[in-house]
Amino acid sequence: MENDCVSCHCPLDRILDAVFDTRFGIGIPYVISKCKNCNLEQTTPFPSQDDLNSLYDKYYNFGGERNTRYTQLRAKFINSFLYRVWLAIDGDISFHRVSGTGKLLDVGCNEGRSLDFFRSHGFSAEGLELNSKAAEVARSKGFTVYGSTLEGFATEKKYDIVVLSNVLEHSLNPGAMLEHIHWLLNPGGQVWISCPNSRSWLRSAFGRYWINWHVPFHVVHFSANTLRQMLQKSQFEVVRMRQETPALWVAHSVIARLFAKPGQPTKQLRSAALVASLILLIRGFFFPLLWLGNLSKRGDCLVVVARKS
Ligand SMILES: [Zn+2]
Repeated sequence: MENDCVSCHCPLDRILDAVFDTRFGIGIPYVISKCKNCNLEQTTPFPSQDDLNSLYDKYYNFGGERNTRYTQLRAKFINSFLYRVWLAIDGDISFHRVSGTGKLLDVGCNEGRSLDFFRSHGFSAEGLELNSKAAEVARSKGFTVYGSTLEGFATEKKYDIVVLSNVLEHSLNPGAMLEHIHWLLNPGGQVWISCPNSRSWLRSAFGRYWINWHVPFHVVHFSANTLRQMLQKSQFEVVRMRQETPALWVAHSVIARLFAKPGQPTKQLRSAALVASLILLIRGFFFPLLWLGNLSKRGDCLVVVARKS
């Protein structure tokens, strides 16, 4: 079935065939298509929301990975002083270093890892999380967490900040998501977005194995231009946009290139020893490359602050 652009409903051109899930082993090939009108890149055919929901249940978060060595080491690292140093070196794509005040909503807050940072940095932080087990963990830390989709989330109170950290690219209707956020915000409120950059040099280097295709979960693939366009269409004004290239993402692309096969889960992505060694190697020896990529606007991740206008 052919799809139209999720943003402007114009026809799409196929630009990359046979893209496959390099993480979980979902054995369906997808195509990356580009809108002939607005240039927005998209994964086609679009999965239905029902298909996506069952894939999330099966593969994401609590779909089997809990208290593994990998997740335990990750939690330990994030709670350590070393993590703060690391953010300063590697780049902060989750807004974990930002301080301020105001009422903040973290969309897809999971177990509340980011909420911890937001609260300790001065914000009054709440979350949205569909996964009931993850939401329960966040609530046990004292956070208010709503078990609703963003589109279905209606509230009397408005927010000063809504955070979409690696969320927008998962949406089947990102324009509607931004419009709803616009409605949730106080006048002058901000949306903080991070998402992969479809103009990344790593996409060119790794082709179908680029970890951020992440089909079929990543439905939309933004560049700085197409994200800016969509924000403007939803009545937001970009305040700041920068690029980062997390060593973890580069390590994941390297592992996918070396080990991923269609229809097979890539277990090496969850090898703490392999991932940590690659991260240190990449950050230690290839840092000029990562830095140049960001400087030439071809970094792997877009980090954006936009204001409700
Ligand atoms: Zn379009």
